[in-house]
Amino acid sequence: MVSPAGEDSESKGGVSDVAEPETTSQVQPTGVKVAAQDLDRFTALAEVGQHSSDLMIVIDQVGAIMYANPVALETFGISLEEGIGSSAFKYLHPDDLERVVHRFVELLQIPNGSMRDAVRTMDENGEIRELELVSTNSMDNPAVAGIIVNGRDVTEQRRYIKQLQAHEQRFRLAFEDNMAPMIFTDLEDRVIAANDAFCEMLGYTVEELLGADSTPFTYPEDLGISEEALQRISRNEVGQSRYVKRYLRKDGRVIVVEVSRSPARDTNGQTLYYVISERDITEERTLTAQLSHQALHDSLTGLSNRALFDDRLAQAHSRVAREGGLCAVLLLDLDDFKGVNDTLGHLAGDQLLIAIARRLEKVTRASDTLCRFGGDEFLYLAENLSSPSDAEHTATRLLEALAEPFFIAGVRVEQHSSIGVVVSDGTRANNSECVQDADVALYEAKREGKGHFVVFESSMHQQAASRFALIQELRHALQGGELSMHYQPIVDLVTTDIVGFEALMRWRHPQRGWVPPSVFIPLAEQSELILELGHFALREAITTANSWPRTNEQTTLPYVTVNLSSHQFHDPGLVAMVEGLLGDSGLDPERLVIEITESVTLLYVTETMSVMEKLHRLGISFALDDFGTGFSSLSYLALLQPKIIKIDQSFVSPALESVRNDALLEAIVSLGPKLNMTMLGEGIETRSQLERLRLLGCELGQGFLFSAAVPADAVIPLLQRSSGHWALG
Ligand code: C2E
Ligand code: MG
Ligand code: MG
Repeated sequence: MVSPAGEDSESKGGVSDVAEPETTSQVQPTGVKVAAQDLDRFTALAEVGQHSSDLMIVIDQVGAIMYANPVALETFGISLEEGIGSSAFKYLHPDDLERVVHRFVELLQIPNGSMRDAVRTMDENGEIRELELVSTNSMDNPAVAGIIVNGRDVTEQRRYIKQLQAHEQRFRLAFEDNMAPMIFTDLEDRVIAANDAFCEMLGYTVEELLGADSTPFTYPEDLGISEEALQRISRNEVGQSRYVKRYLRKDGRVIVVEVSRSPARDTNGQTLYYVISERDITEERTLTAQLSHQALHDSLTGLSNRALFDDRLAQAHSRVAREGGLCAVLLLDLDDFKGVNDTLGHLAGDQLLIAIARRLEKVTRASDTLCRFGGDEFLYLAENLSSPSDAEHTATRLLEALAEPFFIAGVRVEQHSSIGVVVSDGTRANNSECVQDADVALYEAKREGKGHFVVFESSMHQQAASRFALIQELRHALQGGELSMHYQPIVDLVTTDIVGFEALMRWRHPQRGWVPPSVFIPLAEQSELILELGHFALREAITTANSWPRTNEQTTLPYVTVNLSSHQFHDPGLVAMVEGLLGDSGLDPERLVIEITESVTLLYVTETMSVMEKLHRLGISFALDDFGTGFSSLSYLALLQPKIIKIDQSFVSPALESVRNDALLEAIVSLGPKLNMTMLGEGIETRSQLERLRLLGCELGQGFLFSAAVPADAVIPLLQRSSGHWALG
């Protein structure tokens, strides 16, 4: 737009100052010799006008054009003929007309006066042009006798300026309001402009930054980075350079920033300043670091995970192969850890794992690697060993680290571990083989009792392999009908009536013959297979017991006792399964007794109790098996309230009969009446054992003296033949 032309006119000879300062220069004083339009009158003027790049017209006192130079004609879009004599006002933009006429009249009253104006013209096509004019009253000059209007078309120039302004505005916005931190620096790399985002990123104000080079806010170690980039650009090696550096914020925090630096050059290619745009990637970096940490560490304990361990183990192997020496892998498995989870809850279980990790970490040497292998297993890689005994010392150190009890959620917890150790001299370079061997040794350690370590020997492979083969065969045994239930009579020791039978599983292997349950049950317990076996035992026992007749008029129908593995108590489908089997068979639930061992009940009290309660509500009762072999705790007995306590065979027929054992047996049997539980002596083989138990007041008994376990089809003949009792000579 044309700026509103100044209304100011000035007294004689003065040039009125108008808005646009850039147009002040073209004022040409009058005094030009003006001749007539017929060339005689305006010869001199025309001479100037003809070659001027400015427009020039001379108008009379009513505004009629007396002279117009070529530039003027072109500007108005008219020919000389059209122009001469026409009113100069007719070419004006209608909006400017009134004002210009007013100013014209004003000027007429100031002889030799001069006035500056910005006006717009409009041609027939409506095209608008902007002119900057200086009009001079030369009425009194006889050679002219008119008003000389001199000026130039500034349309393009104005348009250019507007464009430039818009451009600048855009640029300012792009810089100032840019979310990306940006600065401009001079050739010495001193800040000449910084946007808000940059100030915010560093915690400095613009005032603090201006004029400074980046030294005070660059992380000292990274000072060389920007310098090098600067040099490469100034040597013209690169047009733009990108790099990552660290800044020191005003508050002392270190941030990581990605920098993109470009030189702003003039048309000759000379660098004027640098435009630097940055991106704070601190969080990204931290996240990446976290992610890569996460990829290599266990999230619960923060220890290395399997991936990292594998890497270290591979390195250790190649080192040993190269430099000699030994390394060892120790596989730790917490003993009965599940009990903690079940009794104290998973949160406490997690806390215990963390506490264990910290203890183990404390005794981990700098050159060694400790890793959480998953669940309750840890792996320890011991390096730089000079002899296998070093590995044993390491194992002892780890076991000792767990010797002291833990306090979790206010509860004192004893948590020990078993360890399988594999010593490697570099000839076995296979990671997973190594861990597998450690696992084999661990199995042996567990077998020896908890809290031990065992060093792997190659002979163990054979055992492990045959164990593995046996498990595979056991899977097929179930489908192949090689498993069956045998039943051992439970006898009233006074009347020798058969009151029930214990169902005991048997496996008739096609090649090996009878495989004892003491071999295959612990194997099955290592996998889900035990659940299938347990289901089989219950189904068989329940349906079989349903067909048993009464032994004589006085007795009730014999019950059946079924051994349940601890794992079965963690099977959420157990109660429904038992209920289903009872329903299908129609067996009176009171005729089913479930045998659990002490270790089961002690380890998983809460869970076991709740399952027992549900089963109890179905009408089922319980027998506590192998009493005296576990961590006998009388308070647990009171808690579990089993109907029958089965005194372990080691008390009934001790290998070494002694006074001490006698006293123990007596004490155990005397518990029955006190706790209102029925005592049962297991493994009665001799008359004297029977007599002793009878004397002590033990009500029930089992043992080869009466009968070993017999196949299902031998039960009924047994019941009938003896009419339910034994006549023991
Ligand atoms: P248990 O429950 O204590 O079973 C008693 C074991 O003592 C049986 O061994 C039985 O045959 C044996 N026995 C009975 N009377 C005498 C005797 O007078 N002298 C001697 N020396 N032994 C006698 P078995 O059948 O070999 O079972 C061993 C263990 O395997 C059982 O101990 C039980 O813990 C487990 N088991 C057997 N069947 C099953 C089952 O179906 N499920 C589960 N979970 N465990 C089972
Ligand atoms: Mg039993
Ligand atoms: Mg037993």
